[in-house]
Amino acid sequence: MVTRLRITEVFHSLQGESRTIGLPTVFVRLTGCPLRCHYCDTAYAFTGGEYQSLESVVEQVKGFKTQHVTVTGGEPLAQKAGCEALLTELCDAGLSVSIETSGAMDISGVDPRVSVVLDLKTPDSGEMERNLWSNIDLLKPTDEIKFVICSKQDYQWARFKLDELKLNQRCDVLFSPSFEQLAPSQLADWIVADNLPVRFQVQLHKILWNDEPGR
Ligand code: SF4
Repeated sequence: MVTRLRITEVFHSLQGESRTIGLPTVFVRLTGCPLRCHYCDTAYAFTGGEYQSLESVVEQVKGFKTQHVTVTGGEPLAQKAGCEALLTELCDAGLSVSIETSGAMDISGVDPRVSVVLDLKTPDSGEMERNLWSNIDLLKPTDEIKFVICSKQDYQWARFKLDELKLNQRCDVLFSPSFEQLAPSQLADWIVADNLPVRFQVQLHKILWNDEPGR
C-alpha cells in the first residue's frame, strides 16, 4: 500500500476554474507529469517536490478549515496508487474533493465521491494523441470536461468532439481560451455564434495573480 506522495505544494486560494470557480479551496499539487503541453503553466511541478506521508497531507489540508480541496499537478494520476489513496482519505475526512487530470491517465480507480475535471487535449496542445478515450464512458454527471482552446482549429476540433461523443449529455463541458494565445472575446464570440451547450470560462487566478505559483 502506498503511504507517501511526492508533493510540490499545498496552498489555500480561490478556485480559478470549473463549477466551483471563486470558492476558497485548498490545492494539493503533486509532482510529475508525463505530458508536455506547449502552454503548460505548471512546468515547475514536473520535477522536485518532496515526499510526504498521506497522513501529513490530509492534516495540512484540514488545517486550512476549508470545505473544498482540489488535487492537481503536474498530472496527479502519474502517482496513481498514492493519488487514489489520497483522494479517498480526503473524502473520508468529509471534504468536497475534485481532481484535475489531463485526460491521458485512466480514471477508473478514482473514488466515485470525487469530482473529476478531465482536460481533453486539443491538436494545438501538442498532446492530442495522449487522450485516453476510454475515460469518457467513466464520467459521472458530477464530473466536468475541459478543453483549453488555442486556435480556430482547436475550437472546430472541440466542437466536433462535443457533438460526436455527446459530451454535454454526460456532464458539464468547459471551453477555456489558452492564456495569452487566444483572445477570450474571440472564443466567446464563436460559442455564441454556434450556440454551443458549453460553459465559457477564463482562469480567474491568472486575472487576479498573473499565474504566480502558490496562488
Ligand atoms: S498535462 Fe497539465 S501539467 Fe502536464 S504538461 Fe499538460 S498542462 Fe502541464
